[in-house]
Parts: sequence; C-alpha cells; structure tokens
Amino acid sequence: MAAAYFLARAGVAVTIFERQATLGGVVRHVIPSFRISDEAIEKDVSFLKKLGVTICCGAAAPSVDELKGAGYTHILFATGAWQAGRLEIPGDVAGVIGWMQGVKSGAIGVGGNVAVVGGGNTAMDAARLAKRSGAQRVTIVYRRTKKYMPAEEHELELAMADGVEFAELAAPVRQQDGTLTCEKMVLGEPDETGRRSPVGTGEFFDIPCDLVISAVGEQVDSALLQANGIETDRRGRPAFQTNLPGVYAAGDARRGPATVVEGIADAAAFAREVTGRDHTYEIPAAARVTAAEASARKGILCAKAPCEGDRCLQCSTVCENCVDSCPNRANVSVTLSDGRRQILHIDRLCNECGNCTAFCPYDSAPSRDKFTLFACAEDLADSKNAGAVFLDERRVLVRTFGEPREYDLLGVNDLPSELETLLLTVKKRYAYLLV
Ligand SMILES: Cc1cc2nc3c(=O)[nH]c(=O)nc-3n(C[C@H](O)[C@H](O)[C@H](O)COP(=O)(O)OP(=O)(O)OC[C@H]3O[C@@H](n4cnc5c(N)ncnc54)[C@H](O)[C@@H]3O)c2cc1C
Repeated sequence: MAAAYFLARAGVAVTIFERQATLGGVVRHVIPSFRISDEAIEKDVSFLKKLGVTICCGAAAPSVDELKGAGYTHILFATGAWQAGRLEIPGDVAGVIGWMQGVKSGAIGVGGNVAVVGGGNTAMDAARLAKRSGAQRVTIVYRRTKKYMPAEEHELELAMADGVEFAELAAPVRQQDGTLTCEKMVLGEPDETGRRSPVGTGEFFDIPCDLVISAVGEQVDSALLQANGIETDRRGRPAFQTNLPGVYAAGDARRGPATVVEGIADAAAFAREVTGRDHTYEIPAAARVTAAEASARKGILCAKAPCEGDRCLQCSTVCENCVDSCPNRANVSVTLSDGRRQILHIDRLCNECGNCTAFCPYDSAPSRDKFTLFACAEDLADSKNAGAVFLDERRVLVRTFGEPREYDLLGVNDLPSELETLLLTVKKRYAYLLV
C-alpha cells in the first residue's frame, strides 16, 4: 500500500494484487481492533483509490512471467511473513498469525486455558487477544526471563495489565490432557545478541493449557518466491533487488517479521528505483537548520564523513574523549557482545584530575557520571557514583539509585539487562580490571 501510494503520487500507474478480500495485510486481518481501528486502515485504502491505484482483491497475484507478459515493468513482492515459526512439540498447537486472524474474523472461538510461546510483541498481542476474547487463563511461556523478551517494555506492561501471566525460564515440551509440560531453564553466558542463553536443567513443571499458540518467529513464504524464480538466502529471504530484473521484495517478505515503518522505508526505496528520483518535499525555510547551528545545539563533535545522513541517536563512537584524555586509564571502553561500547569508570585508577570533565563535549563529569567499578564495598560506600563491586565468582554489589544491593550474577536476578550484560562482559573479558 505504501509503495502504491508513493508511486501513484509520482504519477506512475500502479496495480495492487491482494489474495484476501480487502487490503491491509497483517494490520487489518491480524492485529486486534483494540490496537488499531478498521477505520484507520480504511482511510488509507480510500486514499489509494482517490490517487487512482487499481486494486485487485480476492485472488493470488499472477506469476512474474504473467505480469511481465502483461506489460508490467516493475514488480514488488510485499507478501509478508505469514508462515508459522516451528514449535515442534506434540499437542494442540496453533500458529499465531492464522489463529489471531481466525479470532479477529470471528471464525475461531476462544475459551479454556491458553499458553502463548514466545516473547515478542506478537506474543503480547496474541496473549491479550486471548484474554480479551474469553480465555480463562493466559500464560506467556518464555525460555529466558522477562527482561530478555524482545517485546517492548510498554507491550509487556499492557499484557500484564490485561491479566496475562508469565512463565519465565520455561521451554515447552508437550501439550496433553489440558496441561503444557515445560522444562525449567537457567541462564548461561551471553550469546552474540548480548542476551544470556537458556540452558535446560532436566527438571519439568506443568501449566494448565488447552491450546498452545506458537509465536516463535513467523517466516517468509519462500516457496512462493522460489516458484517465481526468485533466489532466497538460507533463511528463505530474498534481497530487496532480487536476481530477476525489475523484481523487488519489501517489508516482511524481505526482512522476515519486521515493522510497518520498515516496510514503508522499503516501499520508498522501491518508488525511487521505479521513478529514478527521490520524492522532494517543500520544507519551509524557517525549518532549515545549518550544520553549525545543529552541532552548537547538541555540543556534538562528530562530523565524520561515514556518519553523514545517518541518525546518531545512540552513536557511542561519537565520543570516547574521556577514555583518550585520562592519563591514568581510569575510563575504559568495554565492547559488549553485540558490538556496542560502554564506558566504565575504574574508581581505584582515578585521581580526580578533572581531565575527562574538561574534554567532555557534554555537560557531564565522566569520573562521577559513568558507571563505576569499585575495588571493594568500602570504596563504593565512600562514593556517590552508580557502580558495582565484584564480591566473588557469583555475587556483585550494585548501586544504581539509592542503597547498594547484592545480586547473584550467574542466577536469576532483577538487574536491568543492559547492566547485567555489562557486568558479565567485564567478568569474562575484562577480568584484568578486577582486583
Ligand atoms: C500480532 C502482530 C502485531 C504487530 N504489531 C505491530 C506494531 O505495533 N507496530 C509495527 O510497526 N508493526 C507491528 N507488527 C508487524 C507489522 O504488522 C508488519 O511488519 C507489517 O504488517 C508488514 O507489512 P507487509 O506489507 O510487508 O506484509 P503484510 O502485512 O503481511 O501484508 C502482506 C500481504 O500480502 C498478501 N499476500 C501474500 N501472498 C500473496 C499472493 N501470493 N498474492 C496476493 N497477495 C498475497 C497477504 O494476504 C497480505 O495482505 C505486528 C505484527 C503482528 C503479527
């Protein structure tokens, strides 16, 4: 729909082929109405109609060869990622998209106890839909702990507010006779995503469950793409510009489960390919800011060519001045397992010379503001910095706000996940900093 919009606006003739009876994809047919209204979707459809887009609903799209034969010069596969992720357990298991679509359309009734397996935003929506549609008890089952769930914090809170329960550190094994049996997991070392990997314990427990919804990552319908001669990678995903001339892929069909805004970005890129130019906007002169004004406002020193045009919201490479300027090496740049860098202040190496504050482009004093590694509990008590002391192989004493608290770093704890990852990384890869 976004691609059709961008192209129609540029004066290009566009046809949408949609196998369902109405346009709107996942947003219309799957995402519950309490998240987005049908009216909002219908508004976008009527906009396309007014722009003169031809809409053919109710049948699968013709093949690439047929479309090319009919004179289409550019073809975009925006067919989504509707195939259920595999949850290979015996029992009553439904794929999340098909189940949500059935519930939304009224074709599937909901009752009894429901378990949703997965920890993403889709799992949260499915659980809320189950709860609001009449399920007695709804449990989200996840192999790690809540804080490692890919779902946004806000979505998690909404699910909790709707009365959804959570079974953390649980790997489903089988559903049978109204029960889901799960293996109890523990958290191991962080993997390349920066999250701690779940490890089985060999112990099992049961959750009341009549139906399991599998929300473990939907997949692209690679068979459809391959049937048209489009090459895919080992995950069944095509490139934006496919191996076929004039044939492109966008949104979930290209990326796997993603977001609406990423689909729209692909659509804009496709429109650029077709028209050969960017869409230009009339921006009022008053809204234009020079680079000098912008950097004066932000106090950022970065003007590196490779960053041009990119957003710098979380760019940690903008500045590590406090690391470079410290004569005692009391500020260390710690590389996390996902490649991001975090500055750690080392209390025992700092003689408070003030260099880092002088060189800091922000209104900050790194020796006081950076998370700090202390040599012992007494040093932590003497300071006001947020920081940690490694007490032994497992235990850390951490102060974020208020009083210091002891945590079991290797077990289940309620440390914020970013902080836990930092501490585990220091323990594993920067042990020389510990005394
Ligand atoms: C439960 C849930 C909640 C979500 N919440 C959010 C959210 O809050 N914010 C957000 O940004 N994203 C959210 N998403 C993700 C978002 O919905 C998707 O990223 C987005 O819909 C992808 O758009 P798309 O056009 O690429 O694919 P889709 O929306 O999947 O549309 C693909 C369309 O292609 C049609 N199609 C498939 N094969 C054919 C064929 N052979 N012929 C003709 N038509 C075909 C399908 O019927 C479908 O209409 C959510 C996803 C789910 C499942």
